[in-house]
Amino acid sequence: MVLSKWKPLLSLSLLILLWGVSLPLAGQQNVRTFPIFGEKHEKVTIVDSSLAGVVFYVVSGHGGPDPGAVAELNGHTLCEDEYAYDISLRLARRLLSHDASVYLVVRDPDDGIRSQPYLECDKDEVCWKEQTIPLGQIPRLDQRVIAINNLYSKRKPTASRQIAVILHVDSRGTKERVDMFFYHDSRSKSGKKLALTMQRTIRAKYQKFQKGRGYTGKVVARDLHMLRETSPTAVYIELGNLRNPLDQKRFIVEKNRQAVADWLAEGMIAYLETLKRS
Ligand SMILES: [Zn+2]
Repeated sequence: MVLSKWKPLLSLSLLILLWGVSLPLAGQQNVRTFPIFGEKHEKVTIVDSSLAGVVFYVVSGHGGPDPGAVAELNGHTLCEDEYAYDISLRLARRLLSHDASVYLVVRDPDDGIRSQPYLECDKDEVCWKEQTIPLGQIPRLDQRVIAINNLYSKRKPTASRQIAVILHVDSRGTKERVDMFFYHDSRSKSGKKLALTMQRTIRAKYQKFQKGRGYTGKVVARDLHMLRETSPTAVYIELGNLRNPLDQKRFIVEKNRQAVADWLAEGMIAYLETLKRS
């Protein structure tokens, strides 16, 4: 009896709710297309403008002729660069949904976001925007440093912040399971703060979603070419150890790759929030 009295009111509020949600989508102005994510994921809905003005450089490690760490699992070859790339795409897409500017510095013209557990190893990645990636480590890293620093200068007059994030999956020590950890340049206060904030976010996520697991990922200052030579505030993240059987689950299962990307995005957003407050 009581229910029936409220029913018309409930339907009305539901109608208002649906109306409110469907209006912005109807015009499609909040949806943008980025073919790099592949056909299934190329449409990105802009959910808010919380990252408007922020420029991100997402750099997945290795690529082109260099696969990075290589492992074998169930008759499949796992290449570090492919898993780092898939997570970098998911991270970029998430940042774009908050209206950020994002440069995928390492790019694959035909891979897009992939759902399968075993990502095929290929060599057709290029460096922003269409440069063939050289095999030698120093020319390869210099190529991406130059690409980032040129864009950084171009975007500097209008960007509110510029952040570079470098993703790898080859933590040292092949036998150990390794938690996600963070490197920053020793001279970069902002890089250190970014790394610490991301670490805090990841710890909170593990506490929430995998109670009792524990998280031991560290923040470490390290003299790395990509941190030393790039102009934006930079963080270098080891997502785990692709050669470790326990870590492999973090990368083989699609929803885990998505969770890693989402958590990293949340960590970066949390860092930007701390800047607004200070
Ligand atoms: Zn690597």
